Amino acid sequence: MKETLGFIGLGIMGKPMAKNLINAGYKLIVLDVNPGPVKELVEMGAVAASTPAGIAGSVSKIITMLPDGPEVEEVVLGAGGIIENAGLNTALIDMSSISPTVTHKIAASLKEKEAQALDAPVSGGEPGAIKGELAIMVGGPETLFNEMKPVFDVLGKSAVLVGDTGAGQTTKLVNQILVGIHIEAMGEAFLLASKAGVDCMKVFQAIKGGLAGSNVLNAKVPLLLDRNFKPGFKIRLHQKDLKNALEASETLGLDLKVTRIVQEMIGALVDRGNGDDDHGGIVQELEYRNKTEIM
Ligand code: NAD
Repeated sequence: MKETLGFIGLGIMGKPMAKNLINAGYKLIVLDVNPGPVKELVEMGAVAASTPAGIAGSVSKIITMLPDGPEVEEVVLGAGGIIENAGLNTALIDMSSISPTVTHKIAASLKEKEAQALDAPVSGGEPGAIKGELAIMVGGPETLFNEMKPVFDVLGKSAVLVGDTGAGQTTKLVNQILVGIHIEAMGEAFLLASKAGVDCMKVFQAIKGGLAGSNVLNAKVPLLLDRNFKPGFKIRLHQKDLKNALEASETLGLDLKVTRIVQEMIGALVDRGNGDDDHGGIVQELEYRNKTEIM
C-alpha cells in the first residue's frame, strides 16, 4: 500500500496535483486556508488537517504548493507550523516557486530538527498539473529525491535533480526569465504582424515549425488571438518570480537588462488592475503603450 502524504496549498496547481496523487493510490492529509478545494479533496477520500504541525505529527513527507516564500515560511516555521512536529523522518517537499534564499533558510531550520527538505518547483502550468505532465526541477539530498521519485512520476513527465538545496529554485528562476521575455517577444512580434495587416494565426502557423517555434508560442498565441487571458498562471505570480530572479541576480553582481524591462512592463500592468490575468496577457501592456490591439 502507498504511504500517506501531507499536501498543503490546493490552488490552481495544488488541487489537480493532489487529485492525481489520490487517483494513483496515495492517501492524503490536506490543508488550505480556502475551504472549497479542501472539501473537494475530502470528497475524494483525503483527510482534512487543521494545522501544518498536525500534518507533521501524522506523516513524514509533506508537499507544499503555496504562492510565495512568505506563505511557505509561515506554514513551515510559523506558529502551528511543520517545524513544531518535525523530526528525523520529516521531509518537506516544497513545490512552490520561491526565492532560493528563503529555501536555504527553511532547509537550515529543518536541519536543526534533523529533518530534510527538497525544493521541487514545477513548470507546465495548470494543464500540466491536470495531466500529470509537469517538469519538476529539484534541489536537495539525492536519497530523498530517490525516495520521492515515484511521487514525482505521478505529478510530472520529468523530474531532474539539478543539485543541492536551492538549485531547484534557481532553475525555476531560469525558466521564468525565459518564459517572461518570450511572452514579451511574442507580443512585440505579433503586434507588428497585426499592425501590418497580416493574419496573425497564419503567421503563427507559418513559423511554428521553424526555429522561432516554441512551447510558449504554441500555448499562448491561440489564447492571445482569442483574447482569452483567464489564468492559468497569474501575471502577479510571474511578477513575483522575476522579482526573485532580479534579487538573485543582484546578489550575484549581474545586471539582467531585458528581464528588468519586462518586470517594469508587468509592474505597470499590475498597477492598472491586470495582475490576475494569465501571464500570456503580459502583451496587454505593449498594446496599451502602442494604442493597438493584436488581432
Ligand atoms: P494559487 O494562488 O492558485 O494557490 C495557492 C493556494 O495556497 C491557494 O489555494 C491558497 O488558499 C493557499 N494558501 C495560501 N496561503 C496559505 C497558508 N498559509 N496555508 C494554507 N494554504 C494557503 O497559486 P498556484 O497558481 O496554484 O501556484 C502555486 C505555486 O506554483 C506558486 O508558487 C506559483 O508560482 C507556482 N506555479 C504556478 C503555475 C501556474 O500555472 N499556476 C505554474 C508553475 C508554478
